[in-house]
Amino acid sequence: MRAMQFTHHHQPLQLVDIPQPIPGPGQLSIEVHVCGVCRTDLHVMDGELPNAHLPIVPGHQVVGTVVGKGDNTTLKLGQRVGVPWLGGSCQHCRYCLTGRENLCDSPTYTGFQVNGGFSDYCVANEAFCFPIPEHYPDIQAAPLLCAGLIGYRALRFSAEAQHLGLYGFGAAAHIVIQVARHQGRKVYAFTKPGDSQGQAFARELGATWSGDAGTAPPVLLDAAIIFAPAGELVPEALQATAKGGVVICAGIHMSDIPSFPYAWLWEERVIRSVANLTRRDGKEFLALAPQIPVETTVTTYPLEEANQALDDLRYGRFRGAAVIVVKD
Ligand SMILES: [Zn+2]
Ligand SMILES: [Zn+2]
Repeated sequence: MRAMQFTHHHQPLQLVDIPQPIPGPGQLSIEVHVCGVCRTDLHVMDGELPNAHLPIVPGHQVVGTVVGKGDNTTLKLGQRVGVPWLGGSCQHCRYCLTGRENLCDSPTYTGFQVNGGFSDYCVANEAFCFPIPEHYPDIQAAPLLCAGLIGYRALRFSAEAQHLGLYGFGAAAHIVIQVARHQGRKVYAFTKPGDSQGQAFARELGATWSGDAGTAPPVLLDAAIIFAPAGELVPEALQATAKGGVVICAGIHMSDIPSFPYAWLWEERVIRSVANLTRRDGKEFLALAPQIPVETTVTTYPLEEANQALDDLRYGRFRGAAVIVVKD
C-alpha cells in the first residue's frame, strides 16, 4: 500500500510502498478515505516532541471505513470511523483510573508511535475510534478529530468566559469560534500582524473583533486560548486578560515563554495548558458539532502532495484546515 512516511527530522515525508497492516485483538483495519493535517505533524517532523517512533506514517485525523477486524471487535465491516490522536491508553495508571486518560503515563499516539492515516490503510484500537456524525462528508469531518476536539477541550477550560480571545486563527480556532458563538460568547481573534485575510475570515465566522497579535482588544478578555506555537503570546494574552481570567495554551509545543512581571499574573489570572484528549471529549464534541452545526473550511491535497500540505500549513497559506484525500 502507499504511505507517506517520515524517517529523519527536518526531512520531508517520502512516498513508500509498505505492507498493509494486520489488525490485532481489539483492532480494526481501516481503509483511509481522508486524513487531516495538524500542526503536531510539523512538530514531529521538526523533532520538537520526544518519543516519536521512527520511521512513522503521520496523520491523526483519519476518516475511513472498517475493512477488517481483529478478535474482540464489535463494529461492522463497512462502518465509517474516525481515528484521533489518542490511539490507546493503559487503563491502569492513576490518570486513566481518574478519567484523565489524556494524561496517561503510557499512551499510544496515532501517527507518532503507531502509523497514522497518511496511507491507504491503517489499523487502530476499536475502543479509541469514534463514529463520524452522519451528515458530515469525510473531508468536512476530518478536522473535527483533532483541531475540533482539542479546541473543544480548550474551550471547556474557559468556563463561563463571555469575552473569549483566540490567538492564531487556523484549523482549531475556525472550529472553536463556531462553538463559542453558538454558546453566545463574544470572540476576539488575533492573527499574525498584517494577516488581513485571516482577520477577515474570523469576522466572517462571527468574531466581534479581529486584529494583530500584540494589539489590545476593545475589552479585557475573560479567557484566551493560544493555538499559535509562539511563547511570546502568553504574556501578551495575560495583559489582555481581565482579573481572574485564564490563558489556555492549546498547542502540544510552544517556543519558550519570555519572563514577565508578576503583576501581569496577579489578581488570580491563570495560565494553563491543555494536553491531548479523552474519549469523553470526543463523544461530547462529535455529538455537539452537528447540532450547531460546525462547518469546516478545508483545502484538500492528494496523498502524494502531503509535503505541500504541511508546507502550506507552516506558512499559513490556506484558510481553516488541510485534509489529505487518500481515496477518491
Ligand atoms: Zn493534531
Ligand atoms: Zn494510563
